[in-house]
Amino acid sequence: MTFQNLILSGFAGGSVIACITVMAIALAVIIAGAVVFALWSKKEISEDKEEPKEEPQALPLAEVAAAEPEEQDPVILRVSHLKKYFPIKRNFFGKPVKFLHAVDDVSFEVERGTAIGVVGESGCGKTTLGRTILRLYDVDGGDVWFEGAELSKLKKKELRKYRTDIQLIFQDPYSSLPPRMTVGSIIAEAVKVHHIVPKEQVHDYVLGVMKQCGLQPQYYDRYPHEFSGGQRQRICIARALAVKPKLVICDEPVSALDVSIQAQIINLLKDLQERMGLTYVFISHDLSVVKYITDQIVVMYLGNVMEHGKTEDIFRSPLHPYTQALFSAVPVPDPDAKMNRIILEGDIPSPANPPRGCKFHTRCSKCMNVCRMIQPEYLEAEENHFVACHLYNQEIISDLGKYDAMYEEELRIQAEKEAEENARHHGKRRKHSDADGAQSTDGAPAADGAQKEEKEEA
Ligand code: SF4
Repeated sequence: MTFQNLILSGFAGGSVIACITVMAIALAVIIAGAVVFALWSKKEISEDKEEPKEEPQALPLAEVAAAEPEEQDPVILRVSHLKKYFPIKRNFFGKPVKFLHAVDDVSFEVERGTAIGVVGESGCGKTTLGRTILRLYDVDGGDVWFEGAELSKLKKKELRKYRTDIQLIFQDPYSSLPPRMTVGSIIAEAVKVHHIVPKEQVHDYVLGVMKQCGLQPQYYDRYPHEFSGGQRQRICIARALAVKPKLVICDEPVSALDVSIQAQIINLLKDLQERMGLTYVFISHDLSVVKYITDQIVVMYLGNVMEHGKTEDIFRSPLHPYTQALFSAVPVPDPDAKMNRIILEGDIPSPANPPRGCKFHTRCSKCMNVCRMIQPEYLEAEENHFVACHLYNQEIISDLGKYDAMYEEELRIQAEKEAEENARHHGKRRKHSDADGAQSTDGAPAADGAQKEEKEEA
């Protein structure tokens, strides 16, 4: 009997029923397993899946401000004692031991629908301030409040909710646009990500935003390199406004453009502000532009606020010597007007090693002895006009003699210390030269040592 016949005979017998039963059970187990797995994976997917979001209705940009509830805190942004320090030196274990104080104790408030200008020389911390408000940099001290939420304490996930409300317009329109994306896709990207309008309306919505920013509809499919600087900045503005922000931080938005284009962009920003009720933090070193667009001004120097007040007050009567010097350089459109330009002497000190007392004292023409020792308090010199200068502190001004005496005493102590140090150093050198002389037999090296010493002293 062959093997085949043996199996056939086995099947032919009673074991056929047993085989079929076993196969049926195996099949049932496989099917049950598949069903359980399918149900389980379906449950997982349904758990992962986000709740379907209710698509917001598309609102024309001009209606955004009108759609806000009426009872709101008039202050939209509150910056309180904000600090941002960058480590510049670390110890053996990698712990930072020296910091650059880019933003040091800055406070101000901005009301809805107004603009605040942040001015100062390059390196004074203007841009760092803007980026820290946006939380592009972590906050090292103080708080930032936006619409009642403390942005400085929010986690990244919670912060996402506010990302559309605060937008940034960068200084350089050339490098802030992705070169491989068309204008339409650049503007539409954030609109899609944040579900600003239903998907089928995105195209029309983007065209509407482009129109508001003075961009032709045929630009939709073009690339950034095909545009001039002014048009690129319009694209940047359209991208920022497409997500319906409430606060826009403009970081030197016109400094990379030529003068005629600057005027167009500034007019566009002002027009959009009026139509949409936008709030601006306008960072610039161009005071003429700041005068035109802002309602209040913060003057910064080495990370500190030197002066803060309404734009017209600061332009009418700048109080701080630094502001006076800055504003004396603003050109006046009158050929007969006499310019009393105040030239600041010396370079701006390093923020890594700022001077003691008033940070501006190394360049101030009105510097007093007290300025070299004590940092000035931030005081309200006139109504809603704040300044950090001892000239406006009556307590200090009425007692200048005391501070002069203190400073002289400090100088005397310092001179004594230096003299002691020199004497110690001199004594050590003499000991060395005496020891050298004692070692020599003919006295020549000792003479050499004495000559060397004389030369060094000379
Ligand atoms: S505190 Fe003194 S050094 Fe500083 S700005 Fe005022 S006057 Fe000048």
